[in-house]
Amino acid sequence: MTEKFDVVVIGGGPGGYVAAIRCAQLGLSTACIDRTVNTEGKPSLGGTCLNIGCIPSKALLDSSERYEQAMSGLTAHGIDIEGVSLNLTKMQARKEKIVSELTSGVGMLLKANKIKVLHGHGRLHKNRDISVECVDGSIESISGNHIILATGSTPITLPSLPIDEDVIVDSTGALEFNTVPVSLGIIGAGVIGLELGSVWRRLGAKVTILEAAADFLALADKNVRREALKQLKKQGLKIKLGAMVKRADVNDGKCDVEYELNNKVESEEFDKLIVAVGRKPVTDGLFDDDCLIETDSKGFIVVDDHCNTSMAGVYAVGDVVRGPMLAHKASEEGVAVAERISTGHGHVDFNTVPWVIYTHPEIAWVGKTEDECAAANIKTNCGTFAFAATGRAKAMGETAGFVKIIADAKTDLVLGAHIVGPHASELIAELVLAMEYKASAEDLARTIHAHPTLSEAVHESALAVEKRAIHKAN
Ligand code: FAD
Ligand code: AMP
Repeated sequence: MTEKFDVVVIGGGPGGYVAAIRCAQLGLSTACIDRTVNTEGKPSLGGTCLNIGCIPSKALLDSSERYEQAMSGLTAHGIDIEGVSLNLTKMQARKEKIVSELTSGVGMLLKANKIKVLHGHGRLHKNRDISVECVDGSIESISGNHIILATGSTPITLPSLPIDEDVIVDSTGALEFNTVPVSLGIIGAGVIGLELGSVWRRLGAKVTILEAAADFLALADKNVRREALKQLKKQGLKIKLGAMVKRADVNDGKCDVEYELNNKVESEEFDKLIVAVGRKPVTDGLFDDDCLIETDSKGFIVVDDHCNTSMAGVYAVGDVVRGPMLAHKASEEGVAVAERISTGHGHVDFNTVPWVIYTHPEIAWVGKTEDECAAANIKTNCGTFAFAATGRAKAMGETAGFVKIIADAKTDLVLGAHIVGPHASELIAELVLAMEYKASAEDLARTIHAHPTLSEAVHESALAVEKRAIHKAN
């Protein structure tokens, strides 16, 4: 017999499992279907984010940063350490433990919220039944009054760059190396390429990033782009812009990469190559053709502002739909859909989705860049403040970077904020809140910030919007 639920969610990543929890909190009977299994073949909830994305990459970023500090970063503090050595097996095991604790934590949360979990591949039929090919081999059928598709994304692969998960890997393989490659090539200087490049450079690899675009981090504000590129190059990341990779072959266990740069064909050999050229939505076998769920030319499920698909009562959230491929964006859409199902209201403000890149220094922003404001004919006042002028950053020995706040020249409303510097990932939260509450730069300037903290750079950049920063010549 087909079990009926108020809501069935397909996908147990940050879009799906968060939507399921919110539905259950609102009193809706809910089921969540997810097909991910870990390397041991065991079901593992949490999607890309927890299994092969945000969390394992951040675990390695933190460990590798500590290693680099221990190797050479502490001498300026008067701490000399000898005999530092890398135990990569232990570092990887630590990462695995974190993943396993968090993924099983999601299972416990779903259970605590009385959500029925089915581990397997879900497929939606026109009559709203969903058949599930369970990982244990059984077949189940359930149905939902409302259905949320949250099936996420997967790395883009190119035939000319064949992934063998040994020499040529995607982001998943790049989290699994059990030795540090002597030379590492990365295709794509996007968020994933920069983060993974940072991990392996810190652990000792000679890293070259080949990026087809002439611009570095085109989505970021121009000052941030310039500073980030300078800092990352200074650390030893070789970043070649305008390098369009044409093909890669493996010969004798090494990878030959051919790329075009300034109209010249060049080639380079690496021990390992990471292909990080973007991600594509996952919809394989997700619904029957007669469901008439519309997808666009790139395979994204087409949705309106409220995540409604073209099939009534079927919603889609997260990486499988338009918008930034970020875990918190997926979760917020999941919450908004749950609330719309239950109450008729629910909304995500795409203007206040923060972006973070966990390099060192970190990069974070929210809202518009200065160029976007200019293109929209919005007159602005910008305030910037360098971390080097704050006591806390000096005490930490983390003086690279700055905060930049962009305010509307007429209304003083904060339109965007851009940070490159220490703990940018945490500092951006204040600016997201400011934008969410429609704060003006003056509101931020009149807010008391503790001394000595990095947040004083946020305060001073808000003051700088009116050219009245205290610790710089305006
Ligand atoms: P996913 O997390 O991809 O989850 C979808 C789930 O659905 C998967 O478990 C999948 O197996 C399952 N599924 C698919 N089809 C079916 C089906 N038919 N039946 C059943 N189950 C199905 N984002 C950030 O915000 N911060 C970061 O620091 C960050 N770092 C990242 C680092 C890396 C290396 C990568 C690869 C990604 C990173 N991301 C980061 C992006 C983030 O992981 C995604 O934006 C997020 O996971 C999207 O969530 P989702 O729920 O839409 O999809
Ligand atoms: P993102 O979409 O942020 O994950 O970044 C992927 C990056 O890969 C983009 O900046 C693309 O320009 C880059 N890219 C895609 N294809 C190639 C290629 N063949 N050679 C070099 N860079 C590429």
